[in-house]
Amino acid sequence: MDLDIKYLTDLHFHLKQVTKNLKLRTDYSDEERYVGYEKTVCWGQELIDQIDAVWVTLPPYNRFVQPYQLQKNKLRVCLTRFSDMLDGDRAANPLGGLEFDEDDDEEYISTTVKFVPIDMDWYWTDGDSQYAMDNQRRMNELNQAIEDLMQPYIHWVEDVLRVKCCHEKLLTEFLHIKHGFLTEADLAMQFQAYFKTESMAGMAHRKLNGPAPISSGHEVFTPAGGAPFLCASYDFDRLGAFLYEDFFRGLAEHYIPKRCSNCGRWFLINAGIYSDYCENPLVEDKTCRMVSARKKYDTKCKEDPIWNIYNKAYKAHYARVLKKKNVQSGV
Ligand SMILES: [Zn+2]
Repeated sequence: MDLDIKYLTDLHFHLKQVTKNLKLRTDYSDEERYVGYEKTVCWGQELIDQIDAVWVTLPPYNRFVQPYQLQKNKLRVCLTRFSDMLDGDRAANPLGGLEFDEDDDEEYISTTVKFVPIDMDWYWTDGDSQYAMDNQRRMNELNQAIEDLMQPYIHWVEDVLRVKCCHEKLLTEFLHIKHGFLTEADLAMQFQAYFKTESMAGMAHRKLNGPAPISSGHEVFTPAGGAPFLCASYDFDRLGAFLYEDFFRGLAEHYIPKRCSNCGRWFLINAGIYSDYCENPLVEDKTCRMVSARKKYDTKCKEDPIWNIYNKAYKAHYARVLKKKNVQSGV
């Protein structure tokens, strides 16, 4: 929840833009073919690298990241599968054409390779021939490959944005309103009020409802050394679907994320006791919850004369008890 919303919104916009521009068209100008496309490839690769650097460090991904997911140059590797469509004419290319060493695979996917869409004249002059149809098919395949590569990144940013735009707003403005758990009726009312604010919002990541598990079912799970039990199982293909399911299941059991009123960090209220303060260690083994309880008490004593009298009486009584104890034990 501490990610920069402006950065993420820009990232989301650019990813969509780049995906659109990476897909081949049939009407390139020379400038777009020889310069524009390669620029888009560089930009797209940079965006992918930025996201790859972040998501692998975040839980739960950091626990099950696969080596192939850490592969570098994903976009360029994907595009090299379509060298028939992104070949470019070395002689005709004013920038010098493709600059790779054909004997060296590593060099082939290095950033010095320039991707230039093939001349699309065939599309206009020879649209019905087998050659043109083959090219059309390959163009569709390339565009689909770009979609398959880029869409998970777009979804990931969308899902993280949804946490900022929907979950955070819902929690801070609608669910944590009375320093305690809401009744079922109040919860429903608050959701109704929240959904009204959503209808004006527009974009997918501004709506709480949306991503869903790709399948759900039930299966028997047997923990090591424990008895088997029946549990619901889900397959998720995107972060947002998991968060959605997890959020509502948590809500029903009073597991609710909350921003600590003392340190400002998010923590999870785990069923049972509602608190405005987290239990993260703050200073000298004291947590926000301990420090804030003391602060609250002191403020109460300062502001309320009755509490002040009670506090003084309590301290005097406690001192007497302590003295008596010490005398008895011969200290
Ligand atoms: Zn705290």
